[in-house]
Amino acid sequence: MTDIPVAATPGGDGRRSLVGLDRDALKAELSGFGLEPFRARQLWHWIYHRGATDFSVMTTLAKPVRQRLAEAYVIRRPMIARDLQSVDGTRKWLLRMADGQEIESVHIPEDDRGTLCVSSQVGCTLTCRFCHTGTQRLVRNLSAAEILDQLLTARDALGEWPAPPDGRLISNLVLMGMGEPLFNYDAVATAVKIIMDGDGLAISKRRITLSTSGVVPMMQRCGAELGVNLAVSLHAVTDELRDRLVPINRKYPLAELIAACRSYPGLNNARRITFEYVMLKGVNDSPADARALVRLLRGIPAKINLIPFNPWPDAPFDCSSPATVQTFGDIVNAAGYASPVRQPRGQDIMAACGQLKSSSQRSRAVVAEILAEKDAALTGQPGK
Ligand code: SAH
Ligand code: SF4
Repeated sequence: MTDIPVAATPGGDGRRSLVGLDRDALKAELSGFGLEPFRARQLWHWIYHRGATDFSVMTTLAKPVRQRLAEAYVIRRPMIARDLQSVDGTRKWLLRMADGQEIESVHIPEDDRGTLCVSSQVGCTLTCRFCHTGTQRLVRNLSAAEILDQLLTARDALGEWPAPPDGRLISNLVLMGMGEPLFNYDAVATAVKIIMDGDGLAISKRRITLSTSGVVPMMQRCGAELGVNLAVSLHAVTDELRDRLVPINRKYPLAELIAACRSYPGLNNARRITFEYVMLKGVNDSPADARALVRLLRGIPAKINLIPFNPWPDAPFDCSSPATVQTFGDIVNAAGYASPVRQPRGQDIMAACGQLKSSSQRSRAVVAEILAEKDAALTGQPGK
């Protein structure tokens, strides 16, 4: 692992940042400043295609305009608090937001692609029992700018401005970091639309995947408005078990979740829903579970992603053995579903699923208290 030294970035000085405004908002902002709509187009190109952070390089704008803009605005990046590189090439950035809260994003290079995993919230209001993020008390939504910042900062660090059409270091984006993206839909939607814009970051919807624990009422809208790939954190095939592992199931049980998956817009055999299934020893990993999973998903264009459980200190689960994962995967495969086992990446920098921002350690009693409080807020009843 390499801990790459990071430079300090200056703090805010009252100037407003232009990052995170969609095209209409940017136009409106600039027209209030006396600039015509085509200026907004030029700025957009500089900010999102060229990665400019300094108005002085924007040579398509007249010098006095650049000067005026620089007096009123900035194109701010968050501070990189830590920059860690794993022996396997995975890289993790800990970003400090203007209010001091921290989030993480992870870059995972592979042979045929490079995926950036971004966060949508600081922490998460949900309390999936195998997820370390769920044990964090502090939660807030990220703004569209803060979601975008993760991609902009990663492109800075990887030197990918402007990004080539093919063979990019960051070719794919997954909303699978900290937080539940469908609980922060508006900011996520604004950020994703900016990211999909062809004259800019230009990552197509086919290369973006949003992972949800099952916020059923938002799924249809997400598919219709954004058209991104959907991943669903399933993890259990009965309500009894899923109520316990993924507590949002108490609100939106399996039948509703599966119905929402069936009607997710744009599904076909080339565009499938990914069902994520974390392998927990002796909990959800039997051959009977695998067969029930196949029955549950019948008729849905699906792939099943088996995720070896990533342990964290005091976690109440163990990972299933490789043989158990293999047997489970074979059953799912035999039923015609692709069921890749996700390889843990960046373990030496704690970059794996559910491990993000896991440096702080609390006693079991404190964790239990946090989970109970958050569950009570979700269901309106005391947590179990
Ligand atoms: N909140 C969203 C997205 C972030 S979690 C969601 O739950 O889908 C991304 C994925 O990592 C989810 O499938 C989640 O269930 C899984 N995950 C969380 N903690 C994990 C752990 N300790 N080991 C393996 N996978 C985990
Ligand atoms: Fe939140 Fe997803 Fe973790 Fe569940 S798995 S607690 S929804 S981040």
